[in-house]
Amino acid sequence: MRSLVWFGCLAMWIVFPAFLPPKPLVSRHFRLERLADGVWAAINNTEQGGHAICNAGIIDLGDRTVVFDPFMNLDAAAELRRVAEHLTGRRATWVVNSHHHNDHIRGNQVFLPAAIVSTAWNRREISVTEPRQLQWERAHAPGILAMYRKQLASARTAKEKEDIFLWLGYFEGMVQSGPRIRTTLPDVLFSDSLWIYGSRRSLKLLEFRNGHTASDVVVILPSEGIVFTGDLFFHYAHPHLVDGDPDSLVRHLGMLAGEASWKTFVPGHGPLGGRENLRQLAGYVTDLQELVRTGKARGMTDSAIVAQPIPDVYAGWTFGRRFFEENMAFLCGRMSGQ
Ligand SMILES: [Zn+2]
Repeated sequence: MRSLVWFGCLAMWIVFPAFLPPKPLVSRHFRLERLADGVWAAINNTEQGGHAICNAGIIDLGDRTVVFDPFMNLDAAAELRRVAEHLTGRRATWVVNSHHHNDHIRGNQVFLPAAIVSTAWNRREISVTEPRQLQWERAHAPGILAMYRKQLASARTAKEKEDIFLWLGYFEGMVQSGPRIRTTLPDVLFSDSLWIYGSRRSLKLLEFRNGHTASDVVVILPSEGIVFTGDLFFHYAHPHLVDGDPDSLVRHLGMLAGEASWKTFVPGHGPLGGRENLRQLAGYVTDLQELVRTGKARGMTDSAIVAQPIPDVYAGWTFGRRFFEENMAFLCGRMSGQ
């Protein structure tokens, strides 16, 4: 009798896959944070070698689903799609690209036929930079991945291992996804701002010029006070300043932090933050500018300025010396008028 029941259950699973237990809403590439009823942040697990690399968002408008920044690699993007469809009960209608960097756009193809929304500048920039970037990655990523695997074997401290895992995930995802990437450009373009109205809530896309890059798109949920910032905001992580304008970035962060009704900020990288964390990031930029200014006033060479220790307050931040040194070199160049 028991075997008959067993057989019956097995037959139900084969005939009706819906009877299978649902896959859990967890992924090795990200963790979900519920921000409001129908709004989630997908925070990458980069420190554990995940392939998402950036953070993403899932927003249920009531009759349509919006996905913000669909990750860098196809496996992580497919997981994001699965989770978004499970949570909202439908496929994504809109996918927003906050800016042109590879880690925020390569999941686009996984969400087709969704409309991909961004600015005209980002569409043009993706069409120019992605072919070059993919070509470079084909030539160099496998070798760099092998180097990080070797480094992991000799890493001693937990912090060293965490930093290596981050880059292992980045290059491992790149090598695995690379041959299957079909650059998928934004096909709904706007400048300045765009509203999307749903039956349950509405959101505003706002373009910031010359911040992290020449064009950064932020998604604002006014009713909930939630902002998906893309890479205008890095939290507990060294920002990537070299494609943007640091003075203008500081002003943008001040504007975002100054809006009293905006309370929850989903960064492009790092955990969720509040207004004080945006101000802290603005402080990082001005602190590094001051370090460079002081070094130059003392007659230090640029390489000596770049080689300075990371200020204690930022010493534990993700991306470590790699981004710190790139940022310092960039600021040295700007202050020399290069
Ligand atoms: Zn970026």
